[in-house]
Amino acid sequence: MTRLYGGVEAGGTKFVCAVGTGPNDIRAETRFPTTTPDETLGRAIDFFRDYQADLAGLGVASFGPVDPNPASPTFGYVTTTPKRGWPNTDVAGAFRRALGLPVAFDTDVNAAAVGEGRWGAAQGLDTFIYLTVGTGVGGGVVAGGRLVHGLIHPEVGHIRLPHDWQADPFPGICPYHGDCFEGLASGPALEARWKQRGDTLPADHPAWPLQAHYLALALVCFICTLSPQRLILGGGVMNQPHLFPLLRAEVQRLLNGYVQAPAVLDQIDQYIVPPALAGYAGVLGSMALAMDAAGK
Ligand code: ZN
Repeated sequence: MTRLYGGVEAGGTKFVCAVGTGPNDIRAETRFPTTTPDETLGRAIDFFRDYQADLAGLGVASFGPVDPNPASPTFGYVTTTPKRGWPNTDVAGAFRRALGLPVAFDTDVNAAAVGEGRWGAAQGLDTFIYLTVGTGVGGGVVAGGRLVHGLIHPEVGHIRLPHDWQADPFPGICPYHGDCFEGLASGPALEARWKQRGDTLPADHPAWPLQAHYLALALVCFICTLSPQRLILGGGVMNQPHLFPLLRAEVQRLLNGYVQAPAVLDQIDQYIVPPALAGYAGVLGSMALAMDAAGK
């Protein structure tokens, strides 16, 4: 009998739960809106109960901020989130207690990075970044085949970027930093700067070269500090097909030939790419976390 794994993508607006062994073997799946912790976690637990006897483990990829440190007393908690009812919620513990299974737990972007590494756009690579540019900006970093946690986990969406106030007087929207990467380049930042939703801006609008510029400044920073073998960019803002070519050209312009790697110099179409698992990266990634925890 094949042992199955459960995956939970615990998002701030919806939960996705699945049971299986990988993208070609999803035995069951459900999704529902995120309401109160009791109701939402209860629905997820009820879904997994039907498969409890076949499950070898469960992975949870959660919206944050979270505590992903297994040695911490609040491991598996959603911590200081502004989402009502959710601060200090023991998400991993709720599943562990109800189902009696080992539960792996990490951020949604870290899990998505693991999913893309196992089954998606970063297969065969040991050092890469998964970045999501949507309501917020966040990313998971895999280095030398392992997720980077370090102090807590990387917060690549909050790096500071050079900001030309004359070219772009927009002050940014990050409540902590104003004009950090997320403050300048998230979906809500685009909408606040241009007074209309990003997906309604035409392809020739000046919003897009500016957006590509900020994204490229961030990617160049990651390329120079982490030397990733690939950069995978998802999230709502990246659903503009014209943005990738602008972004790749701007990365090359900013690097100015300094990083002497074919991936950057003449194979950049395969270097800066969209996710391969699309909407499934998080839930499959959480399944992969469960497999890793079980030693599979
Ligand atoms: Zn910030």
